[in-house]
Amino acid sequence: MQRWIMTALSAALIALGTFSSESRAETVGVVASIAPLHSLVARVMEGRGTPTLLLPPGASPHDNALRPSDAAALADAGLVIWMGPAIEPWLERPITALARNATVLRLNRTEGLTRLDLREGAAFEAEDKGDDDQEDGDEAHQDETDPHLWLDPRNAALWLDEIARALAKLDPDSADTYMANAEAGRTELAALEARIEARVAPLRGRPFIVLHDAFHYFEDRFDIEAAGALALSDARPPGPARVAQIRDRLRQGDIRCIFREPQGNAKLAERVARDAGVEIGVLDPLGAALAPGPALYPALIEGLADGLAACLNPL
Ligand SMILES: [Zn+2]
Repeated sequence: MQRWIMTALSAALIALGTFSSESRAETVGVVASIAPLHSLVARVMEGRGTPTLLLPPGASPHDNALRPSDAAALADAGLVIWMGPAIEPWLERPITALARNATVLRLNRTEGLTRLDLREGAAFEAEDKGDDDQEDGDEAHQDETDPHLWLDPRNAALWLDEIARALAKLDPDSADTYMANAEAGRTELAALEARIEARVAPLRGRPFIVLHDAFHYFEDRFDIEAAGALALSDARPPGPARVAQIRDRLRQGDIRCIFREPQGNAKLAERVARDAGVEIGVLDPLGAALAPGPALYPALIEGLADGLAACLNPL
């Protein structure tokens, strides 16, 4: 057994022993895994409480270690909200081991979500499946569905309702507030979508490359398309075959930008961009530079439009 889970378990036992059960009855402890989900939960809870965020800003959801304070929060939680093991494999065992008294909401199971298949190959329009690139297929992404579901604001809108229903069940006295907050949040997301649509429209037809294939949901919702991704997942660096495919794609001469991310592998993206003589931009799928809270989610989506516009703007 890994050492961190032992640490997590003992921390949880200490937490349980120190704060006996009477101190837990006051409010429902709510834990959310990654910052974009935490933001949606915080929006629904506004005026009633603040959820705990498990994944620190800047950490990768694909690979993280649990801190003792996280273990205590999980052990004390009434509601745990996460995406699911495809994007957060590190969280599956701690939830099973620690959050025994909690309602666990797995948001990748929400009914009605827009779901996209993972794109194959490095350069997306090249459909030559004979070009074997499987060294990039890490276990986190072996599921066929692209797990970056939160980058479609309409998925986020469905989650607001699901989060509100779960909270209302656990805390019926505040049910009206949760439902009203979710509805207000949905209205905000609709306005956000309209703003982004207007921002992104002039950028259509300007091909770009991303560091890892995280933005398919955003692209699909706003009708733009990456020409390729250097890496399939942020859990692993791309193999040389995949990088070579991207360099080939760049030789067509129409790519305007390569987007790196705030965390991970900036050097590779920068080197490939420099060699090809294209601009480098930044797209942040997790809101690493933003303050956690209700405003993070809309700022994250706006940030993607900003990042695209900054690098792809008309010549
Ligand atoms: Zn990813």
